[in-house]
Amino acid sequence: MKDFEYVRATTVSDALAQHERETTAYLAGGTNLVDHLRLGIRRPDRIVDISRLDLGGIEETPDGGLRVGANVRNADLAMSPLVRQRFPFVSQALLAGASGQIRAMASTGGNLLQRTRCVYFQDRSTPCNKREPGSGCSAIDGFGKYNALIGQSDQCVAVHPSDLCLPFAALDAVVHVTGRSGDRAIPFAEFHRLPGDDPSRDTNLEPGELIVAIEIPPLPWATRSRYRKVRDRASYAFALVSVAAALDIADGHVQDLRLALGGVSHKPYRAYLAEEQLRGRPATAEVFEVAIDAELAAAHPGGENAYKLPMLRRTVVAVLQELAEGAVR
Ligand SMILES: Cc1cc2nc3c(=O)[nH]c(=O)nc-3n(C[C@H](O)[C@H](O)[C@H](O)COP(=O)(O)OP(=O)(O)OC[C@H]3O[C@@H](n4cnc5c(N)ncnc54)[C@H](O)[C@@H]3O)c2cc1C
Ligand code: SF4
Repeated sequence: MKDFEYVRATTVSDALAQHERETTAYLAGGTNLVDHLRLGIRRPDRIVDISRLDLGGIEETPDGGLRVGANVRNADLAMSPLVRQRFPFVSQALLAGASGQIRAMASTGGNLLQRTRCVYFQDRSTPCNKREPGSGCSAIDGFGKYNALIGQSDQCVAVHPSDLCLPFAALDAVVHVTGRSGDRAIPFAEFHRLPGDDPSRDTNLEPGELIVAIEIPPLPWATRSRYRKVRDRASYAFALVSVAAALDIADGHVQDLRLALGGVSHKPYRAYLAEEQLRGRPATAEVFEVAIDAELAAAHPGGENAYKLPMLRRTVVAVLQELAEGAVR
């Protein structure tokens, strides 16, 4: 591991001032960054510890949403009664991720910024455009089981790894950030990037910008929501595919729907087309199948990741059926 200077920020403005060069890294829970320091994927010469900043708290907003501080631990967010009552799939997604020990360290802000689990990205002996721009992509002709289906480029075919980001995408969460040029609010759909010709950038954060909070707008019917993750083993594994859904239903018909898919793309994938097709339609397995098939028509699978298509189809239909059958009105 390369030597670095360690400083602990005392305030947000102190953190921004300490992040004075591109080779600085913020440290929150350290569960992703420290791995990358050890592997030599990140080689900062200064680390600014932000874990003691006053960026905690899960607060109700006046309109019925929630504001979650960037430093709120994944375990605390998962167990928050407000989250469990209003947005159960946020809690379910968190509990489907990592292990109890990691969730106790990992922060909400850090979860959004964790980097891909592409095996080649983590192996410095192989070419990877995300790790070393211009070096090539080992996954395109290599081990393809985990590769993306939609939005990949000829520079990178990796998928986004976070579970939490799927319900956040479905809920149209807003990421509040601050930087030297001031504060800004980034809609979740614009926060993460597709790889295009620069896969080294995962998000639209500017260098030095700090996430301060994530806001979840109100969505009263998200009380009926589910997160389901399909993985190689029962715990401690990233998603092969995953589904975050919230359903508003009346008289057996879909009134409204939010649907996000994981294991699909370089960013949390919002299934807008399926949502649009399902509004006002009968809540039946056949109708759900047609809608998800329409969404997945945009997929470009390779030989080793085509299994994800039927897996996604079945998982989406099962989750929506469960939500529909749980309907009481
Ligand atoms: C073994 C293992 C299994 C895991 N399994 C899963 C899983 O199944 N599902 C899942 O979703 N996740 C999983 N994770 C990932 C884990 O959730 C993330 O590592 C964690 O959420 C990152 O949070 P952190 O606070 O530790 O971030 P850190 O490691 O401290 O930081 C991560 C990145 O975010 C930056 N950063 C952190 N906070 C801020 C901020 N407020 N503003 C700006 N930049 C910031 C850091 O500079 C760094 O680049 C797993 C991790 C491990 C180690
Ligand atoms: S898929 Fe992306 S992260 Fe994986 S090797 Fe290719 S460029 Fe690197």
